[in-house]
Amino acid sequence: MNTQDINKRIRLIMHLRSMGITDTDVLSAMERVPRDAFVPKEVLDQAWEDMALPIGRGQTISQPYVVAAMSEALQLSDRDKVLEIGTGCGYQTAILAHLARRVYTIERHVPLQKDAEKRFEDLKLRNITALAADGMKGWPQMNGIDQAPFDKIIVTAAASKEPPQALLDQLKIGGSMVIPVGPPGDQVLRRYTREEDGSFASKDLMGVRFVPLLPDVAKDDEAA
Ligand code: SAH
Repeated sequence: MNTQDINKRIRLIMHLRSMGITDTDVLSAMERVPRDAFVPKEVLDQAWEDMALPIGRGQTISQPYVVAAMSEALQLSDRDKVLEIGTGCGYQTAILAHLARRVYTIERHVPLQKDAEKRFEDLKLRNITALAADGMKGWPQMNGIDQAPFDKIIVTAAASKEPPQALLDQLKIGGSMVIPVGPPGDQVLRRYTREEDGSFASKDLMGVRFVPLLPDVAKDDEAA
């Protein structure tokens, strides 16, 4: 890594601190994960800017501040088993992989999912299991093995009104889920916590802009 790269990283971390991110584990993960490995070469010079960037198929890599804020809101421990819906390029997944024990991640665009999986291999992130499927249905049982329930769930695409029931069902008692909720232009990041009696408490954290959560695996020619 050259001095210019190091400076870009440090500048982003200082910016995240100035925006109110205080969790030192989150800040250190944001410093370590090379965001430049997750963006198309056309926008490589902007990889360390605090901006969402296009990654193809009408999808985006999230803004670093939003990735940091969502990671902080999950209050992750290194014992947590996490489910992520909306892998995209896999940047948020890589951050989670530094903070949790194991990350299960689902993406509905097969080509995006394949590219993300390749990045996880290249970066030697071995605690990630990636799947191309409809994440609104939760993590499927495979070979008779259930991974649910999860300590934490993070959804990086917006539900129009309520989180999908299958995801609420896969959250552990005492666990929490962060998910953007609302129609385009009027979304809020919401954290649900599952109480002892199985009910859910929720708290609105901040306004956000995400692509919508869509059902089914995407068709080959589908843009978004
Ligand atoms: N987490 C990414 C940003 C993801 S953008 C980052 O770190 O930059 C949202 C992603 O959610 C898109 O790739 C979109 O295809 C995906 N998505 C939308 N609905 C989905 C669903 N039902 N299941 C899985 N992925 C979904």
